Amino acid sequence: MTKKRAVIYCRISQDRTGAGLGVARQREDCERLAARLGWEVVQVESDNDTSAYSGKKRQGYAAVLEAIRHGRVDAVLAWHEDRLHRSPRELEDYIEACEPRAIVTRFAQAGELDLTTSSGRLTARIRGAVARQESEHKAERVKRAQLQAARDGRWLGGAPPFGWNIRPDGSATLNRAEAREIQGACKALLAGASLGSIVADLNARNVSTSTGRPWNYTSLRQVLTRPRNAGLSVLNGEVLGRLTWPAIISEDTHRAVVKLLSDPARRRSVTNRAKWLLAGIAVCGKAGCGQPLKSATAARNRSKGTTRTVYRCPAGGGGHVARSANAVDEHVEGVLLGLLSREDFLTVFADGPAPEDTEALRVEAMSLRERQSEAADLFIKGRITGSQLAQISEETQRLLDQVEAALADSTRGSALAQFVGRDPQPVWATLALDRRRAVVRELMTVTVLPSARRGNIYDPELVSIKPRRGPSGA
Ligand SMILES: [Zn+2]
Repeated sequence: MTKKRAVIYCRISQDRTGAGLGVARQREDCERLAARLGWEVVQVESDNDTSAYSGKKRQGYAAVLEAIRHGRVDAVLAWHEDRLHRSPRELEDYIEACEPRAIVTRFAQAGELDLTTSSGRLTARIRGAVARQESEHKAERVKRAQLQAARDGRWLGGAPPFGWNIRPDGSATLNRAEAREIQGACKALLAGASLGSIVADLNARNVSTSTGRPWNYTSLRQVLTRPRNAGLSVLNGEVLGRLTWPAIISEDTHRAVVKLLSDPARRRSVTNRAKWLLAGIAVCGKAGCGQPLKSATAARNRSKGTTRTVYRCPAGGGGHVARSANAVDEHVEGVLLGLLSREDFLTVFADGPAPEDTEALRVEAMSLRERQSEAADLFIKGRITGSQLAQISEETQRLLDQVEAALADSTRGSALAQFVGRDPQPVWATLALDRRRAVVRELMTVTVLPSARRGNIYDPELVSIKPRRGPSGA
């Protein structure tokens, strides 16, 4: 009889016997076995397959079956049985290919598969089933351990989460300074501050992340939306219950922040956020136009190549108006601070509710909306029935209507209330740009009128400012 032609199959995986055993070592052992048996190695195949039952297609394994089916080999060599098949289903395919061709399978570690007799096939099947069960059992054990840790609120390693200190036993205590930053950031966010202005503020004060880095959008968003901020334990997106560690913010605030930060409109506004006070607020004064002006770069001095920013009408042909942004801002700020320092003007807002009340209402409204979408989610997942969903929706909608009615009454003074009884200049000076824009929006309309003169000569008379309300003649 001629020499047996053999294919060597090697596989790297993290599961079961020989974890991390390199392909080179597996191949060497198989070649030694082939030499001892007097077989000729005609083909070597390998796969890098680090998860046992991932279901990912194994190119090398497929090539082995291909070689068997086309009669190119008489024998298969592998390091260990569990290198060859990952599942009973794969074993059946293998048996189907080997049996009619009397293919011999030998393992470098020990043993062989005799698939030519029914008792040999039975042995192979039993060993495969046992290996499968062991692997599944291990996966279950890992999953159970994770679930338990998540339930207990034990920290599973890595840098301690911003806001807490981790004890050696994995439990947590509040890091008061960091917790205050989270509370402040949530409050600012719900009061209308942008994520960007909070990032800038944290970095300006040299407050760093738990890994000692400066903040950015991603890291701040991640920290502010963590369920554990509200003492909730979550695994794979599902709320399991309350953690044993101290909460930093209330559950309602958490829901509201998550809602706010997952709003797609907000995501867009992060990248397109205005860099100028009046961009998109001031409008074109050309009769029949009235479009919001955009900030644009214009030449200041062509020979020197210097530029400046202008507010420009978006109409074709360069727009109807274009005016120096710095100059318009300065003028508008002057008028605005003048209005805000007039007691008679601000008494209009003095009767409004305190900003904290408004914030509480906003938080409640967002929390209710979040509860509605959570209920819809549970219904989709089959956890609650349609009638339960209807009942929850009806109840939350009733509450939402009340909250929104109260909110509509109260938001009137929201952006301006902070000026009541205070010197407006220092208040204005500490406001982030997006808060300043909110004040302008609420307080006045700004119209940039076309100039009869050529060029971009600035003239305050060509900017019309009208208070939106207040005592007549303000
Ligand atoms: Zn225009």
